[in-house]
Amino acid sequence: MELPFSESFRIKMVEPIRQSSRAEREAWLKEAHYNVFQLRAEQVFIDLLTDSGTGAMSDRQWSAMMMGDESYAGARSFFKFKDTVTRITGFPYVLPTHQGRAAENVFFSATVHKGDVVPGNSHFDTTKGHIESRGALALDCTIDEAKNTQLEIPFKGNVDPKKLEAALNEYKDRIPFIIITCTNNTAGGQPVSMQNLRECYALAQKFGKRVVIDSARFAENAYFIKTREKGYESKSIKEICREMFSYADGMTMSAKKDAIVNMGGFFATKHADWYDAAKVFCIVNEGYITYGGMNGRDMEALAVGLDENTEFDNLYTRIHQVQYLGAKLDEYGIPYQRPAGGHAIFVDATRILTNVPKEEFPAQTLTVELYLEAGIRGCEIGYILADRDPETKQNRFGGLDLLRLAIPRRTYTDNHMNVVAAALKNVFDRREQIKHGVKITWEAPIMRHFTVQLERL
Ligand SMILES: *Cc1c(COP(=O)(O)O)cnc(C)c1O
Repeated sequence: MELPFSESFRIKMVEPIRQSSRAEREAWLKEAHYNVFQLRAEQVFIDLLTDSGTGAMSDRQWSAMMMGDESYAGARSFFKFKDTVTRITGFPYVLPTHQGRAAENVFFSATVHKGDVVPGNSHFDTTKGHIESRGALALDCTIDEAKNTQLEIPFKGNVDPKKLEAALNEYKDRIPFIIITCTNNTAGGQPVSMQNLRECYALAQKFGKRVVIDSARFAENAYFIKTREKGYESKSIKEICREMFSYADGMTMSAKKDAIVNMGGFFATKHADWYDAAKVFCIVNEGYITYGGMNGRDMEALAVGLDENTEFDNLYTRIHQVQYLGAKLDEYGIPYQRPAGGHAIFVDATRILTNVPKEEFPAQTLTVELYLEAGIRGCEIGYILADRDPETKQNRFGGLDLLRLAIPRRTYTDNHMNVVAAALKNVFDRREQIKHGVKITWEAPIMRHFTVQLERL
């Protein structure tokens, strides 16, 4: 018989987790103002808030940490890190930062100014925040198909080249660069095809513009290219990565995702002028240019993590688990953004809680219900995350309203996924009785979802 799937690792260290009672969770969540970011992690049984910085490092990464060179300038660990980034991406100039948004801050400080327009596919919330807080506009040119959660197409994260070309024509002089997020997190962890990257790069060159890849999950994106795009079946993940980055001028990276470290990030580019402009902001905001926001040991672990996670087996194990959870939800008829993405399942809250009006935030309501049901922490990726329109100050209800179940890398087993699916089914089965959502009682002017305070209606 054919052998079944199994993980490409075995487990050397474990961390106990504890289930709680519903009464405990009711009290804890009330105290947290119905915002799961405000819970203590110990009050959570299975934590699918994010896959960012929550993965399990390998024995090789832990052992590399012992080799950290903590010299202030010119540390050996920096060169190991930089050479690995250059080998995988082709970019010779590398600035370390403490995480992805810090890379955005360092690079955008040098390049994004008031009145600018930065087109791309869906901008991640910190990316949007760093653009809008500089008085610029983050213009979403994602393909329309991404909005239909039930449509199964292989590269639902793509940029619409027609929208991009229209933006390039309309805002010519106001565009500092185009930013393409791989995979497209906001649209559901959906990949961008090589064909699309190639086409966008050609368009950018036609208009004399540069392209940046927001690369948090570039390796997962490469996995989807290998498994879904014609002509890439027999290419290695590393070959695919090199080609992806050949259609870009630079990258911002949250290493907490696809480099499987708990903290770290970087900006990398092929242009000396961008590097020279950004390094000033690195020194002011992060640290000297050979450590940025990281310790020597962090850069060691990052280098090993990047190398490991651009190998097929590791990515196959991970994405298989995401697809396993998706298949369970299929079994129960629970709608989610199709097909399953690379790092998470995005449950379509507006199709489940049909009695909760959009003004009462269905996805946040579903997040609350899932936590109360079984101590599982997901994350609203919807109307609260979308913030208010900076001009009209109105809530933005134009996008999707999803509950994201983000799966940390190498952390949970498929049994945990069974519990998540069963808990969600229990909420799904009583969806008709859920008629009221939540109301905002306090919010920050930008990136409100982290600190928003809510009341149950
Ligand atoms: C996580 C993420 C960021 C920001 O990175 P942090 O390390 O959280 O600061 C930027 N873009 C995308 C697509 C991300 O997923």
